[in-house]
Amino acid sequence: MPKLLFATTNAHKTDEVRQILGPQWEIENLRSHPHLPVPEESGATFEANAIIKALAASLALPETFVLADDSGLEVDALHGAPGVYSARFAGPNATDADNRERLKKELTPFSIAKPATIFPGRFRCCIAFAQNGQVLCTHSGAVEGTLRLTEQGSGGFGYDSLFTPDGHTDTFGVLPAEVKNQLSHRARALGLLVEWMHQTQFAG
Ligand code: IMP
Repeated sequence: MPKLLFATTNAHKTDEVRQILGPQWEIENLRSHPHLPVPEESGATFEANAIIKALAASLALPETFVLADDSGLEVDALHGAPGVYSARFAGPNATDADNRERLKKELTPFSIAKPATIFPGRFRCCIAFAQNGQVLCTHSGAVEGTLRLTEQGSGGFGYDSLFTPDGHTDTFGVLPAEVKNQLSHRARALGLLVEWMHQTQFAG
């Protein structure tokens, strides 16, 4: 079974990638490699940050196939924020709950000014796949939806309990993981990676 190092410590993202890619990959994450350097996510785009993370791990473990994901939420009313700053929207050591509070705080004035305002937005994800200190490919995915100001559900992570994907009435915090993992930004980016593997006859 080919092994893949997913360059994250995020257990939720890791569970999602395992479910999306299926049992044909043995996937571990950075928790199994605590000695590896954790690079600063200094890129201005999801792609730049995904590449930074993939290369840092791949240079340290050249034999291993490395996957990195950089992802986040864009809200139209906030001109695309929090974007690449999604994980640190409420500050450098912010928790997911802190970030959701900050988002609600930013959006509240809009709904006070105009009750029942709808807040369109999307999750975006860019993944980078690397080996031997080289990026083999990058792929992006997005899922459109709307943000709400009251949390719904406790499933998932990050902004899931505030985000309802288009075509559904419940947030990712309520929808089963199987549903999220079929239509999410991460699922779409990984779907393109799998397509790339077929096209290039990548054997792993
Ligand atoms: P990253 O680890 O730098 O890619 O940060 C991603 C941040 O974006 C996370 O901490 C979450 O706040 C948010 N995010 C990305 N993907 C998701 C998702 O699938 N659900 C909810 N929040 C997400």
